[in-house]
Amino acid sequence: MPSHNLAHIEIDNLEIIGYSVAGEETVVAVPQLDVCFDIGKAPDQIISINHVLLTHGHMDHSAGFAYYLSQRNFCGLTAGTILAPVNLLRPMQEIIDAWGRLDGNSVPANLVGVKPGDEYQIKPNLFARAFPTKHSNGSVGYSIIERRKKLKEEYTRLTGPQIVELKKQAKVIDYTLEIPIVTYIGDTQYVDFSQLKYIAQSKILIVECTFYELDHAGRAEAGRHMHITEFATLLEKMQNEHIIITHTTQRTPLREVRRILKEALPPEKYQRTILLMANRPNLR
Ligand SMILES: [Zn+2]
Ligand SMILES: [Zn+2]
Repeated sequence: MPSHNLAHIEIDNLEIIGYSVAGEETVVAVPQLDVCFDIGKAPDQIISINHVLLTHGHMDHSAGFAYYLSQRNFCGLTAGTILAPVNLLRPMQEIIDAWGRLDGNSVPANLVGVKPGDEYQIKPNLFARAFPTKHSNGSVGYSIIERRKKLKEEYTRLTGPQIVELKKQAKVIDYTLEIPIVTYIGDTQYVDFSQLKYIAQSKILIVECTFYELDHAGRAEAGRHMHITEFATLLEKMQNEHIIITHTTQRTPLREVRRILKEALPPEKYQRTILLMANRPNLR
């Protein structure tokens, strides 16, 4: 039986699975893209995913990383790749080494340090790009971007042989089109993320909105999280087709979260939102 009762969301054949409650655990995976954003306590369902993209080192987001690596080894899979803010690499390696001593078996790992602006290739035409968030030292979010080669407009009417001829002449006949598929913001206080076009236009936005009640605004500020009023401001300039909300507080029931959300957002924005945790199948 799987270790977690994960939420399931399907958007245009792309499955998104995860679990996210503020302070408890956050892990959100897109198996078809072979990425898992944060790792929580390493649910069984994400062990076979080859790339884990950590946003920051808080325990509720990162606790399971060593277990993920060791389970992959145990199952005969290649060492998992973990992207993480570059300042976390040393303590992560220390944890892996300490587990190796404790367990008696070394834990193979491929750790990749990232800073805002860095890119990492996930598949031949798929990249993860890190961008800065305002939460903890070095914290980042990630956009998964598809790159497609497109013929320049002036060449679209040419025949195959004509194109081959131009290529022989070393003419640049195409350009690269970037399609941001999914963006995961992770924990952050309010920042105008719409200034980065690939975030504003990402087809799917996975974003935290932790606090909802009026008197929780101070908690949001203290923990460097978003409150519903800031979340509503953020969405004003965003063009995402689907907005998945994560990291909701345990202090406010989901029913109430939904009511406040509906009140705070214009209808065309509200109808694009999905509360991740409202999409968990009931346990039998
Ligand atoms: Zn968190
Ligand atoms: Zn955090």
